[in-house]
Amino acid sequence: MECVVCNKPAMEEERFGDYADFDCDDCGKYRVTGTVLGILDRAQWLRTTAMQQWIAEQHQAGVERPIINSANAEYEGVLYR
Ligand SMILES: [Zn+2]
Repeated sequence: MECVVCNKPAMEEERFGDYADFDCDDCGKYRVTGTVLGILDRAQWLRTTAMQQWIAEQHQAGVERPIINSANAEYEGVLYR
């Protein structure tokens, strides 16, 4: 599966009921909620630069695996049609 942040091939380490964990060479480790994955399935995509920056900040702050959820995800493209 591709990294949902930068679209490069990435490891999807584990998928739980409502989460998926990714490990990307460029973005690092992060977790995505099922809600966000559902939106991405509907042809939305994340703002790569903004989300990579946010993940990097979380990593620097000591968060091992930041969680991308509805509250902090930034999308590009049309959200609702
Ligand atoms: Zn990535």
